[in-house]
Amino acid sequence: MSREPDARRADPPLDFDGLRPPSPWITPAHRAWRDRVRAFVDTHVAPQIAAWDAAGSFPDELYRVAAREGILGLGFPEALGGHLPDADPGYRILAAEELHRLGTGVVFADLATHWIALPPVVNLGTPALHDEVVRPVLAGGKRIAFAVTEPAGGSDASAMTTQAEPRGDDWVVNGSKTLISGAMRADYLLTAVRTASGGAGGISLLLIDAADPGVTRQPVPGLGWYSASNGAIEFRNVVVPAGRLLGVENRGFASLLPQFNIERLSSVAATLAMSRVCLAEAIAWCRTRQTFGKRLIDHQAVRHRLVDLVRLTHAAYAWLDQCVWRIQSGEMPVADIAMLKVQATRTLERTARDSMHLLGGAAFTGGSRIERAYREARIFALGGGTEEILDDLAARQMKF
Ligand SMILES: Cc1cc2nc3c(=O)[nH]c(=O)nc-3n(C[C@H](O)[C@H](O)[C@H](O)COP(=O)(O)OP(=O)(O)OC[C@H]3O[C@@H](n4cnc5c(N)ncnc54)[C@H](O)[C@@H]3O)c2cc1C
Repeated sequence: MSREPDARRADPPLDFDGLRPPSPWITPAHRAWRDRVRAFVDTHVAPQIAAWDAAGSFPDELYRVAAREGILGLGFPEALGGHLPDADPGYRILAAEELHRLGTGVVFADLATHWIALPPVVNLGTPALHDEVVRPVLAGGKRIAFAVTEPAGGSDASAMTTQAEPRGDDWVVNGSKTLISGAMRADYLLTAVRTASGGAGGISLLLIDAADPGVTRQPVPGLGWYSASNGAIEFRNVVVPAGRLLGVENRGFASLLPQFNIERLSSVAATLAMSRVCLAEAIAWCRTRQTFGKRLIDHQAVRHRLVDLVRLTHAAYAWLDQCVWRIQSGEMPVADIAMLKVQATRTLERTARDSMHLLGGAAFTGGSRIERAYREARIFALGGGTEEILDDLAARQMKF
């Protein structure tokens, strides 16, 4: 007598794609863009990712390839070499997801730094700066970093001390920055400097050439595991022409705020994508690994643990969908983005931890994407604002 196959044994594809709940905002145009980024990752990143992960870096040539494939220009004006509307966050979200599909942000950290560093140059820079900086960065020939954090602290950006003093037609900059992604290979540094006392009210934005006399850079020790081009920057009497002040003097902090929303949304997309990477590997493993005479997934405690992780991931995606819808409708839900970034990071930390757990010792034998995601999960809890800072921001926005 033939038996019906057990429905669970049909093993539906709970892979990276199968684990993404459908989003109402994803159109055929979004899908086409996602396929394009995926092809870039599969062709130009995946074959080398193990070596790049070990080195904590990748060759500069990847910037030019990414430019050709449209990754660098995403969300920037067409007239300057960009494409696809910045007003629709969906494209960036899908790009960040695809760039984390290998379970590592080692490429994304440097390749997408201009997403936050370049907009002030686009929006506040002169046509001459557009030609000198924006076009070459979007073409992959030059690189720009976002230099805000200082050795004395990053959370309280309004307390920064790097000083710019006027001298004739120039500014003279003294001070230091640290933990700056892509600093070691940047040609330009979008730098927050103090031009007056008074907290956030005395901060301005200067575009500093990394090769200028008085600028020195050093890799941040201990970050080699993540990105070897993350660096500390020292400014010693660096002369910056007045034309490289972006926007209004002492109002630079306000110009930075939209960038933080972009960074947080990218983090949400990255962490949820990495959660799916972990889940997909854990589920595949639990479907084959046998203990006590049955597959791991046939043990109720294991199944429940996996369902719990899927539930957390889906809940965060539903919240992300709501944020996307609100942004597409012309709103900027700052409090929700801040809270969701915390939620998504915690989701990844939990998913990475529990997936590692389910793999047992195999997680430590190399080659597992979960292991990479686990190592990198912590960074997402810092970049773009730590949990406490984002909770405070959300509380202020909600007028607690
Ligand atoms: C890999 C990596 C890449 C980065 N890339 C960049 C970059 O490209 N550009 C850039 O400018 N910066 C970058 N950063 C820096 C990052 O933005 C900062 O690490 C972050 O803002 C936190 O600042 P901090 O490390 O100085 O911690 P601190 O500000 O010293 O905070 C330490 C701890 O205290 C907590 N804390 C602070 N204030 C409060 C409070 N009021 N109440 C309760 N708790 C509090 C914080 O949440 C944190 O847990 C990067 C960091 C890393 C690790």
